[in-house]
Amino acid sequence: MSTPMSAKRFLDALRDEGLSVVQVGEWSTHNRNHKGPWGPVHGVMIHHTVTRGTANTVRLCRDGHANLPGPLCHGVIAKDGKVHLVGFGRANHAGAGDDDVLRAVIAEKALPRDDEASTDGNRHFYGFECENLGDGEDPWPAVQLEAIAKAAAAVCRVHDWTHRSVIGHLEWQPGKVDPRGFTMASMRERVADLLR
Ligand SMILES: [Zn+2]
Repeated sequence: MSTPMSAKRFLDALRDEGLSVVQVGEWSTHNRNHKGPWGPVHGVMIHHTVTRGTANTVRLCRDGHANLPGPLCHGVIAKDGKVHLVGFGRANHAGAGDDDVLRAVIAEKALPRDDEASTDGNRHFYGFECENLGDGEDPWPAVQLEAIAKAAAAVCRVHDWTHRSVIGHLEWQPGKVDPRGFTMASMRERVADLLR
């Protein structure tokens, strides 16, 4: 079990990992903590946005939309590898997922198939939204994939987690397909390399 780190620690951890970070507005206090619990935290969740254009993507992830108020994650990882911080605390990114998966993440074991939406994920996961159309054709630039690995590794380092604490939305919530275009197994390998 881990208490969420502070916003300052989050920012420092990302920078210490060598990432270029953009702070968007009052990101450190922009959250959904008034709607539910934040923490204990158990892992990092990776998403794709199904959007085109960084400015538009960052705005959407910060503000959300009519049916889903923002923030929709903590950091937006753009195609150029920059990490835009849009919120910190409880965020609308993970939704309801599988409690068996959560148990596996906590134990840092291989993940079971996600076939239940029984558990509040927004409480337990840091979230990174990655700019991509999610159609399986939109390319993932090398610099963006590297940034995703570094962002995940940065969080794992603070909490003393392994690469097994990094999961994709598709591994959490039945019906989700993100991220699409790379495998989470390959991404976890990259995180493991960074943490070695
Ligand atoms: Zn997602």
